[in-house]
Amino acid sequence: MGDILNPDSVSFEKNKHQPGLQIMNMFTIGLLCFFAGFVYSSFPEWVLHRYVMHRVFNFFGFKFRYPFNSHAMIHHQIFKADQSYELKNHYPRDQQSHQETIPMAWWNGPVLIAIMSLPFLAMIFIDVPWFMVISIILGIACYYCAYEYIHWCMHKPKGRWFERTWIYKWIKDHHRRHHAHMNRNNFNVVLPLADLCFGTLLLE
Ligand SMILES: [Zn+2]
Ligand SMILES: [Zn+2]
Repeated sequence: MGDILNPDSVSFEKNKHQPGLQIMNMFTIGLLCFFAGFVYSSFPEWVLHRYVMHRVFNFFGFKFRYPFNSHAMIHHQIFKADQSYELKNHYPRDQQSHQETIPMAWWNGPVLIAIMSLPFLAMIFIDVPWFMVISIILGIACYYCAYEYIHWCMHKPKGRWFERTWIYKWIKDHHRRHHAHMNRNNFNVVLPLADLCFGTLLLE
């Protein structure tokens, strides 16, 4: 009875002689960790967007202006909630320079993924299996890529198949409302879970 209640003895001992089952278990756990990393990313996205991209980040007197300048002062001034939300409505002569303000600089990706992954990297020191940590980090990296791609498509629509789906139209309107109320609402671009939890979700 004691053995049955002990999960170690039930699954891992039993599966030791069944490598196929063990790989299946690792795959399922890895997949769950991947989704956990993806969902978790909604929260650092919200924090970074609200406190670093819409305010000058001030760390004990050390002011870091770059994200505020490139996002709030440039991207938000060029793309508003009116028809300027879509690049195709800008003057043709401006479109090239304006579209360059949609993505973040290339080096933001590795830096932000590393910052968002720090709490999970620390888990290796408390013996959390490496494949779980890597799966979580992959979920975080996937969220970052989704952020960049979806944000690009929102401001530069091109008749892609998913642009006709209701979920995409909904999230695109969600971000349009952020461009209307940039310091107050809708800081998530991919998954508005943190907006919901922190009371900044504006539905209309
Ligand atoms: Zn935008
Ligand atoms: Zn913003």
